[in-house]
Amino acid sequence: MFNFILFGPPGSGKGTQSEKLIAKYGLKHLSTGDLLRSEIAKKTPLGLKAKKLMDKGSLVPDEVVIGMISDMVDANKGAGGFLFDGFPRTIVQAEELDKLLKARKTQINIVLAMDVSEAELVKRLLKRGETSGRSDDVNEDIIRARIAEYHKKTSAVLDHYQKFDKVVHVKGEGSIDEIFERLTAQLDRLQKKKD
Ligand code: AMP
Repeated sequence: MFNFILFGPPGSGKGTQSEKLIAKYGLKHLSTGDLLRSEIAKKTPLGLKAKKLMDKGSLVPDEVVIGMISDMVDANKGAGGFLFDGFPRTIVQAEELDKLLKARKTQINIVLAMDVSEAELVKRLLKRGETSGRSDDVNEDIIRARIAEYHKKTSAVLDHYQKFDKVVHVKGEGSIDEIFERLTAQLDRLQKKKD
């Protein structure tokens, strides 16, 4: 199995690059943001609770996303590997993910961290808000709150994986294809090393 985390602040291009990466490597894409939005669309109790937090730009509780990821990993036992997008976002989530994968005799092989300046993130998210239909993309204050959550709680996830020497930084600015090439160069390099 080959599992990796596509890491970066909101607006760094995780969703866009994930689509291209799963097509190339045949992995199962697990995005907690997408899973939560699907709960909101279905108006489930979990979705309604999560929406209140998402609309403010706050993170939803760890146990909610950990439960969703655990269910999805079990529901996709035949997958060649997983691409985690938008998860883990806290140290607790990272520790639980490691445990969950270990119990299934696998692990995170690499964390690809996309670096993008804050000015560029805000510009991209406001632009995405014109068409995404996402209520958390239209208001600059909410966008800044999401970026603040990232600095407060999520960036520490990198320190966690750095301890295991699993983090590789990639410049997340440039064209979609340029960034894709940088990411695939890292993944191909790692896969060659494994063979
Ligand atoms: P995203 O689509 O990854 O930008 O996520 C949108 C929103 O969903 C975030 O601002 C959070 O409110 C929530 N969310 C997504 N993934 C997580 C996570 N792993 N932990 C906590 N909240 C999350």
